[in-house]
Amino acid sequence: MAHIGAVVQDAGREDAVAGPDAQALVLNASYEPLCVVSGRRAVVLVLTDKAIAVALGDHVLHSARVFVTVPAVVRLVRFVRVPFRATVPLTRKAVFARDGGRCVYCDAPATSLDHVIPKSRGGPHTWDNVVSACGRCNHEKADRHIAELGWRLRRAPSVPSGAAWRVVGGKRVDPRWHPFLGEPEQQDELLDTPA
Ligand SMILES: [Zn+2]
Repeated sequence: MAHIGAVVQDAGREDAVAGPDAQALVLNASYEPLCVVSGRRAVVLVLTDKAIAVALGDHVLHSARVFVTVPAVVRLVRFVRVPFRATVPLTRKAVFARDGGRCVYCDAPATSLDHVIPKSRGGPHTWDNVVSACGRCNHEKADRHIAELGWRLRRAPSVPSGAAWRVVGGKRVDPRWHPFLGEPEQQDELLDTPA
C-alpha cells in the first residue's frame, strides 16, 4: 500500500486527524518553491506518485486502512514550467503582513487599509499607495494628503518581492518551509505576523 515517507501508522487511531488548516509547500523538481496547497491535496500528490514528501507536518489523515502523516513540504517528481505572476496579489492580509500589522502613520495596531494618496484624489489601488493603518489615523486623514496633515510615512510602501512573497503572499508560513523559501529572517518574521 502506498504511504508517505515511512510514516504509516496503526489503523484504529482516531486522534490527530488533519484539520482544514493543514497546508503544504509544493516545490518544483528543482526545489524551487511553487505554491501552497491543502494538506489533503499534498497527500494525494504523494499517493499518486506525482510528488515526494520532503518534510512531514503535524497533521494526520486517515483512509479506510491507514493513517498517513500529512507532509509539510512536497517536491514534484517531474519538473513543471510555471509562469509566475509578476506581482503579489494586493490583499488586506498581504498588506498587513508587509507592514507588520502596524499603522504606517502612528505604529498602533492596524485595523484597516488606507490609500496614501486618497482614491477620491486619484490615488491608485496599488502596492505603493496602499498601506495598513489604525482606525483613528484613517478617520482623521479622511480625504487629505499626508503633506496637508504634516504626517510622514514610517517607510515608503513598496511592492513585496522574493520567493516567499510570490509563493505564500501573506499566508502563515510553516517554519519547516523556511529552508526552501530562501528568505532572510526579517522577511520570515514579517510573514509570520498574524493579520
Ligand atoms: Zn495610526
